[in-house]
Amino acid sequence: MTRIFNFSAGPAVLPEEVLKQAQAELLDWHGSGMSVMEMSHRGKEFIAIAEKAEADLRELMNIPANYKVLFLQGGASAQFAMVPMNLLRGKKSADYINTGEWSKKAIKEAKKFGGVNVAATAEATNFSTVPPQKDWKLDPDAAYLHYTPNETIGGVEFSFVPQTGNVPLVADMSSTILSRPVDVTQYGLIYAGAQKNIGPAGLTIVIVREDLIGGAPAGTPSMFDYKIHAENASMYNTPPTYAWYIAGLVFDLLKKKGGLKAMAEINKRKADKLYAFIDASGGFYKNPVEKPSRSWMNVPFTLKSEALNEPFLKGAKSAGLVQLKGHRSVGGMRASIYNAMPEAGIDALIAYMRDFMSKNG
Ligand code: PMP
Repeated sequence: MTRIFNFSAGPAVLPEEVLKQAQAELLDWHGSGMSVMEMSHRGKEFIAIAEKAEADLRELMNIPANYKVLFLQGGASAQFAMVPMNLLRGKKSADYINTGEWSKKAIKEAKKFGGVNVAATAEATNFSTVPPQKDWKLDPDAAYLHYTPNETIGGVEFSFVPQTGNVPLVADMSSTILSRPVDVTQYGLIYAGAQKNIGPAGLTIVIVREDLIGGAPAGTPSMFDYKIHAENASMYNTPPTYAWYIAGLVFDLLKKKGGLKAMAEINKRKADKLYAFIDASGGFYKNPVEKPSRSWMNVPFTLKSEALNEPFLKGAKSAGLVQLKGHRSVGGMRASIYNAMPEAGIDALIAYMRDFMSKNG
């Protein structure tokens, strides 16, 4: 068996330790005689799995007791709607920061439920920057401020946490959650699709401050109401049990590896190495993002000429490096280097890029 280096933006590489443990436990979880996939979500076995996963995530992210952690479905995209449905609470509008493709989708969806004030946009730099907060036009009466700390497609990551006073801060952390420590107390709500840094697709994590729960208007469908999910410990209906279990294995492993501080150190080292190589390539490879806002998780880059894209990808595949093709909306390449991408994967990618450049430079 050979594992390749998988640079997919998501669903993405999972830690090999987790896959092996899942394999070992597949047929008979802890002597239960069944797979986690076959368990009732209300049985004592799965409840134990679910509770441990939540406790471990709380420990990893240092989530205070006045926040609920919800294990939902529908992806981050469902949150684009659930956030305004639950958090507008009779207010006229919400503030949004537009830093790229995922911000735009969140904005488009929010407009279905209320007013949207785009308080800042990076459009003028073709989304290669994060507008500094001093230039934002925040509405002091906004229901909340929504932003995308890491734009998975553009590879743009905030190097600061927006300061919004009493206006709740909402973050789509899909592609940056667990990559470094965050101060949860600065947020009203954090959400993330699992399929990048948490586990398999199908699970969405929502971390929400208790006072923001319960504001959905009457008539809100139950599945879109945080209150229903919070009151039922994310078991109002059948949750994505297997994805929840795998996420739990990932949380457990991250704890053993030293938690998010340790992950941040490794992630920074991995990203720095790759950007340094790109920047030193004399323009053969280019990353368009301003340096302070370069993502630690998603590294888009272009080659000297578009004609080199196909040969680059073909050679990469032969070298055991896959899923490097950039998002269809931007072209070029993108290396997603989440927690589970080993440092050896970065080294192998750089070695391949160096070799390709020497042959095509
Ligand atoms: N937000 C961000 C930042 C993302 O990267 C993605 C998925 N790539 C989404 C939202 C949409 O997530 P999902 O497919 O889970 O709905």
